[in-house]
Amino acid sequence: MLTRSSQAAPGSRRTESTRRLVLWLGSGAKYQLAAVDRSAIEEVALPLVAIRRRRSVIDRIRARGLGLFLDPEPWRNQLPLTHSARRRPFSAFDYSLKERVWNPKEEVSSEDLDTLPQAWLSSQIVAGASELLIPGHIYYDLTGRGRQGDLSLARRACEVAGHWMGREELFGDVKRGIYAQITIWPFNLRNRDIAWLADAYSELPVNGYWLSLVAFSQSETQYMGIRVLAEKLQERTGKRVIVSGLGRLWQGALADGVDSVCVGHERSLFLFPSPDLPPNVEEGQRFRIQIYHPAVLGALRGSQQGHMAQDHLFERFPCQCGGHPPKERPRVRRARLHHNAWWIARELEWAIAPEKGGMDTQARIDQATKLRAELGMSSLSIAWREIARREQLAPGGRDPTDRLDSVEIS
Ligand SMILES: [Zn+2]
Repeated sequence: MLTRSSQAAPGSRRTESTRRLVLWLGSGAKYQLAAVDRSAIEEVALPLVAIRRRRSVIDRIRARGLGLFLDPEPWRNQLPLTHSARRRPFSAFDYSLKERVWNPKEEVSSEDLDTLPQAWLSSQIVAGASELLIPGHIYYDLTGRGRQGDLSLARRACEVAGHWMGREELFGDVKRGIYAQITIWPFNLRNRDIAWLADAYSELPVNGYWLSLVAFSQSETQYMGIRVLAEKLQERTGKRVIVSGLGRLWQGALADGVDSVCVGHERSLFLFPSPDLPPNVEEGQRFRIQIYHPAVLGALRGSQQGHMAQDHLFERFPCQCGGHPPKERPRVRRARLHHNAWWIARELEWAIAPEKGGMDTQARIDQATKLRAELGMSSLSIAWREIARREQLAPGGRDPTDRLDSVEIS
């Protein structure tokens, strides 16, 4: 069993790693699935709103035996009634609020408690999810009214799922895990919040947790806060913790011992509120596809200057993904989707299997720092240095939680 996490953090109670990656498939799912064939990726995720357009993709996911998460995204109910994210297909779901905007500062009504959790779960079951998500709303306050509301809804969802578990017509021979989503706006995450959140969520009878980061800055402070929250939750419950929204830090986080991450097209970073789109534009069309390059541990902008930098990088470090000529940047949408997904699979291998060789974290940071400066890119997140530092401390390194228990995160 691969145990980079136990080398890097010997103080951790976790002794074996089952580190995994859930690939978020936004639009263009079929190109991404083809690119990660025969990789270590065993699970994928899609927004529930995507299933009507991508039935054939879901059939393909099932045929491949991949685990499937379908996120109900009830935060769409927090957007104005006229917002594009609330129109069809979202408006067709039973948990879509027809005439009001969800306000997380208000107490959850008994009617919402009776209807919403059930609608979230049944919509996922009907759509063919193999894992069930108890989703969360979005609010700044980490432990206040919004959180209490989400916890009440999550407890009710657990009761509903408990009643349904034995029902053959719903579950058949499909073994479904239930995951509670913990939505975190991490800019003000402090030690006391971490302890409170770990306590509050550890009481839920679920199979795992999905830490969903909103507007994660990739700063060292925010990274360490999330890292410790994930660790504490896992120590306390022994259950799997998936972290999504880590941006370009995800492979560093996995190498650093984070149990599971979710990453992929349209969901590397999650921003809220989502942009409102004109009536004729679909959600999948709103994102420019940036091109990832491993040598800079990041992606280059699509500007003219960005294109020149990409040309330089691909010439100097050719890409073997097979979606485009190795020494040229992928130019069309299909090739870009293929390229980025293929590299997610390669970075996953790098993060979880250090014995397979390749550069260590510090060497990659040194290379990326130098290249980014040469190409006029922004500097690499300083959190990478913290990840490399702990890797170099192995096997006598400290548990990352030691450091954060003694330092107030501010
Ligand atoms: Zn490529």
